[in-house]
Amino acid sequence: MTFRPSAGQTQKAPPAHDHAGCITQAIHAAERLCCTRGARFTPIRRKVLELIWESHRAVKAYDLLDRIKPSEPTAKPATVYRALDFLIEQGLIHRVESLNAFIGCNCSEREHELLLLICGRCGEVEERPALEVMSALASEIKDAGFAPLRKAVEVHGLCAHCARLEAND
Ligand SMILES: [Zn+2]
Ligand SMILES: [Zn+2]
Ligand SMILES: [Zn+2]
Repeated sequence: MTFRPSAGQTQKAPPAHDHAGCITQAIHAAERLCCTRGARFTPIRRKVLELIWESHRAVKAYDLLDRIKPSEPTAKPATVYRALDFLIEQGLIHRVESLNAFIGCNCSEREHELLLLICGRCGEVEERPALEVMSALASEIKDAGFAPLRKAVEVHGLCAHCARLEAND
């Protein structure tokens, strides 16, 4: 199954929720975090974060550049990459390694592990804390004497909504 994060997938859209609430919460959290840490939440950083939060689908860097152009005609790929690096560093977004794309984090205010459930039908990525899974993983890594730089578990499949639709097809 091919995955295109921004290509018109509305026919497969998952059930609506108060997504405006997700965006507001994410931007407010970013403002608070940057303020506490003395990090600069510049207009371009904010814009990139807002674009990533347009949905719960993973977004590729070049799609961000396309979407940023109308409001920031001078934006270059490096501008977007620098903003992405900043947002990752601050824990406001995560890189979905297997898709080479990015999602917003809705729990950026606490340190957490990364278990990502990636739906191949609607393209939504759900972040789960799954503390037991991650602590089992951590002890396995420790047993191996391995020094992890970063770790994330990415699971591909169908979200609950899409699994129901597939079953009814
Ligand atoms: Zn939402
Ligand atoms: Zn997160
Ligand atoms: Zn889905």
